[in-house]
Amino acid sequence: MKIEKMASLLGMKETQGVFEGTYQGYTFHLIHYYTDAITKILALQFVFDHQLTKDEFKAISKAQGAPIARLESVALTQNAVVLPLLYKSTKPEKLNVYLTKITDAMKTSNLKNLNHCPFCGLEETDAQRVIKGSIVHVHDQCAKDFYEKVIERVEAEEKSVANLPKSLLFAVIGAIVGLIPTFISVLFFNYMLALLYALIPLASFYGFKKGGAAKNAYVPFVVAGISLVISLLFIVWIYQTGAASLGMTFAEMLEVPQNRSEFIGDLGTSALFTGIGVLIVWKSMSQQTNAQIKKDLSGLKK
Ligand SMILES: [Zn+2]
Repeated sequence: MKIEKMASLLGMKETQGVFEGTYQGYTFHLIHYYTDAITKILALQFVFDHQLTKDEFKAISKAQGAPIARLESVALTQNAVVLPLLYKSTKPEKLNVYLTKITDAMKTSNLKNLNHCPFCGLEETDAQRVIKGSIVHVHDQCAKDFYEKVIERVEAEEKSVANLPKSLLFAVIGAIVGLIPTFISVLFFNYMLALLYALIPLASFYGFKKGGAAKNAYVPFVVAGISLVISLLFIVWIYQTGAASLGMTFAEMLEVPQNRSEFIGDLGTSALFTGIGVLIVWKSMSQQTNAQIKKDLSGLKK
């Protein structure tokens, strides 16, 4: 559904390029939310004045049902919830029931919208900024100062190549560690599972971060490449070991047409599953890059 249509169904008004609505005293915004690399969904975002406790988030999650609520950080840490509207009924009376349910849960938890400046904590703000799709009340000077400080740090980090070799090495080691569950599943159960493959880029990215290099925009692509190479080498290694146990060289074994087609088939499956795995973890990787941090804060500049 088009964002404009959903906004009008929810009685939301457009201000500063953002759709804003209020219900039972709560202000919320309609946003596009990426759940992974390619899936973009419409969601409601509520921004609160403090980091949500587990119980507070649980209460909202329960009222939300499926698709699950997600925690977001909007100017403060984990102070916002994203509530996907996918599969929710678009009938006005049902939307009202839904809005009542989620805002009732917020009321019960005594939650309050973020109304003070998130940078200095003081009220009586004098400006507004759009952060991650929500309008946030700020002091103009606080927003500018914060933006400059963060951008200065991020840009210095982006230019630095310190720790890059170490991070790349750790990313490779991470990918190998992430391969272990797949290794066990293939060797002992003769089974390839797409979901397990997601652990390869996940562990590789973790390794890269541990290495301490800057998380630049290219890092998710590097992690994807390393994961692919490792998962393909794994298949080669399996076939090589198989050939050796039969007293053949790798080349000799591949001369048998059936072996060759199985080998190519397994390489293809491995590549496909790595691709799926990368898609699954893409959002969590790209969200941590400097490019994304800059993009998230771009609304502060003005
Ligand atoms: Zn301020």
